[in-house]
Amino acid sequence: MDCRSAAHALSQIATLLELHDEDAAAVKAMQVAARITAALGERPLGEALKHELNPRDWPHPDLLSPEALAVLHELADHNSSTVLERLQEETPEGLMEMLRVPGLGPARIRSIHDGLHIDTLLELEQAAREGKLASLPKFGARTADKVLKGIADLRATGAYVLWQHGRAEAERVAEALRIQPDVLQLEIAGSIRRRNEIVRDVDLVAAVRGSPSIVAATLAQLRGVKEVLGGGGRTLQLRLDNGVRVDLACVRPEQFALALWRGTGSALHVKQVTERAASLGYTLTNDELRDADGALVAIPSEAALYEQLGMAFVPPEQREAAGEVEAAVADVLPALLEEHELRGALHCHSQYSDGAATIEQMARAAHARGLRYLGVSDHSQSNTYAGGLSRDRILEQHAEIDALNVAFAQEGLDFRVLKGIEADILPCGRMDYDAGFLDRFDFVIGSVHTRYGMNAEQMTNRVLKALDDPHLTILGHPTGRLLLTREPYAIHLDAILEKAARVGVAIELNADPHRLDIDWRACRIAAEKGAMVSIGPDAHSPQGFDNLELGVAVARKGWLRASNVLNTRSAAEVMAFAAARRAGAIGTAAGTVAGTAAARSGAALLRVI
Ligand SMILES: [Zn+2]
Ligand SMILES: [Zn+2]
Repeated sequence: MDCRSAAHALSQIATLLELHDEDAAAVKAMQVAARITAALGERPLGEALKHELNPRDWPHPDLLSPEALAVLHELADHNSSTVLERLQEETPEGLMEMLRVPGLGPARIRSIHDGLHIDTLLELEQAAREGKLASLPKFGARTADKVLKGIADLRATGAYVLWQHGRAEAERVAEALRIQPDVLQLEIAGSIRRRNEIVRDVDLVAAVRGSPSIVAATLAQLRGVKEVLGGGGRTLQLRLDNGVRVDLACVRPEQFALALWRGTGSALHVKQVTERAASLGYTLTNDELRDADGALVAIPSEAALYEQLGMAFVPPEQREAAGEVEAAVADVLPALLEEHELRGALHCHSQYSDGAATIEQMARAAHARGLRYLGVSDHSQSNTYAGGLSRDRILEQHAEIDALNVAFAQEGLDFRVLKGIEADILPCGRMDYDAGFLDRFDFVIGSVHTRYGMNAEQMTNRVLKALDDPHLTILGHPTGRLLLTREPYAIHLDAILEKAARVGVAIELNADPHRLDIDWRACRIAAEKGAMVSIGPDAHSPQGFDNLELGVAVARKGWLRASNVLNTRSAAEVMAFAAARRAGAIGTAAGTVAGTAAARSGAALLRVI
């Protein structure tokens, strides 16, 4: 378990304690522990706990209560917490549901429960409509309206989970089904296959022999199944304990490719392709494609379907009805980025700040994944909660990197560590450290880590000002969002992307599955404006490089090709990109040539669309 997931468990405990009207100090202790643990990010919890009271690992170990520490140890050892499980059991399900209504905190839910004896979401909705909610102390008509809107939102969005958690669930279910002798082939489809940043259901498509009901029965008995929602015959819908919905479709082997394509969606993409089929005289129904004479057309693969319809193959990530159907018909889909095209990575943390591993360990892990350089970018001096580096520590780190590069060369290893920094963009828009000191780095990432509450004007000006600093190479996680946890801060992203393209600053696609920032939709806009994108793993441990896989998938979803991505270039080219900017030579080969090419291809695509 990583620290951020542990923090989530701690904050759930805090919420439930508050809901149960437990001692305020106990609630506070869990909230504080959640904050401290969250600051450790993606680090494996077990590793962080090895030196539990070492202030270098835990920013404020003295603030961790014994109860919180016990929860953390249990989470590290068993991936679960008995305290949390007990609280969940003791809480009526309706109240747990109410906690998911935006704007309803535990204190409010308790007063609703105590004052109106409401136990379910339905009763809550009724009470809000009938004006009973507004009559409670500290509630009013506006709160009641907000609650109604919150319930509507909740119905619309359901229980979303992060892509990585959805995929883990999907794989667990898929594994259990694949060993069934009647299952010949089984694939994960739907939004997980399309690499959406958050997902709320697991779609599975299985080619089965014999009776699909036996396969369905196996699924219904799986550990972690809460309820069977429906289905029968060839389909089954059920809900898992964690709220994730699973949809299984069982088909005959010869129908599999078409069923997988349909199950992958998106619904709009499927609709557009079906219309394309109709325009050519075909009939595309649930399981089959028939030509104008009514003869069955065999579809042995998804590629065969697109080919039959006179279209280029559309990769699953791109099936979002965002112009890909027209582009596939015109055969002008871009050649999307492939993971092997990444030559390096430019965002990771070491033990110098809040990372779990040494620079050498991180470098060797990056090399083992086929990368040829790694930009180390620990936190800067103002970022005290994440162990930001003083100037002296930076100088030590640079000496270590120099020595490491010499050692790698002597070893004959084709690998280089670059000196970077994730410098805070201060509230005034200045970069942490002065210009003279920033000159020491090979490249500089600038990130907003404080004062998220600024309004859009203030935040946009803050970041625009940072873009004026010629030391800035990459704008880190440009919206600050944490998926399902924290909204992006208010900012006029278009203005930022435009200026970044103009001045030669790359925009980060932070590949941390909690962030995926910038969003794939904005990736496409960035490329169209001619800005470079840097796919940053933001790795805090060697396992953190796994983030690159999702980062590449999301870049593909945003229509990026290798030429749009800074870290498909060599280390020397990346350094030249940074140096050109610093020298004020904006518009040199490193900055604009690729940008113009990207803008050109973007413009071409826009014409098609
Ligand atoms: Zn950051
Ligand atoms: Zn970072």
